[in-house]
Amino acid sequence: MHEGPVTEEIIRIACEAAAEQKGRVTAINLVVGEDSGFIGESIQMYFDVLSEGTACTGARLHLEGVKPKLRCTRCGQLFYRRPFSFTCPACGGDGRPTEIGKEFYVKNVELEVPDTCI
Ligand SMILES: [Zn+2]
Repeated sequence: MHEGPVTEEIIRIACEAAAEQKGRVTAINLVVGEDSGFIGESIQMYFDVLSEGTACTGARLHLEGVKPKLRCTRCGQLFYRRPFSFTCPACGGDGRPTEIGKEFYVKNVELEVPDTCI
């Protein structure tokens, strides 16, 4: 289980953004590739515990999954991986794994900034 440290990092990034704007975090949008090795449910679980008492308390965590894609070595086409198959649907060539599906990053942080006008 390595979701703990990355969740701490996500909270740190979001809290920094909140501190800059003197606001609080309402939502965090995360991009999580299916091949990233991170499990959304675990991140959510850690987030609920670790965000307690920070500017992220009560924030929603949105996870955007990315399906892995392969690139055909013959025609260069990108296609979604199917179970137990690396065959290109266009030409029947062999597909090789790409970086698509290995993403893991904070896409953006939604903040609620208090009205500074009196
Ligand atoms: Zn092909």
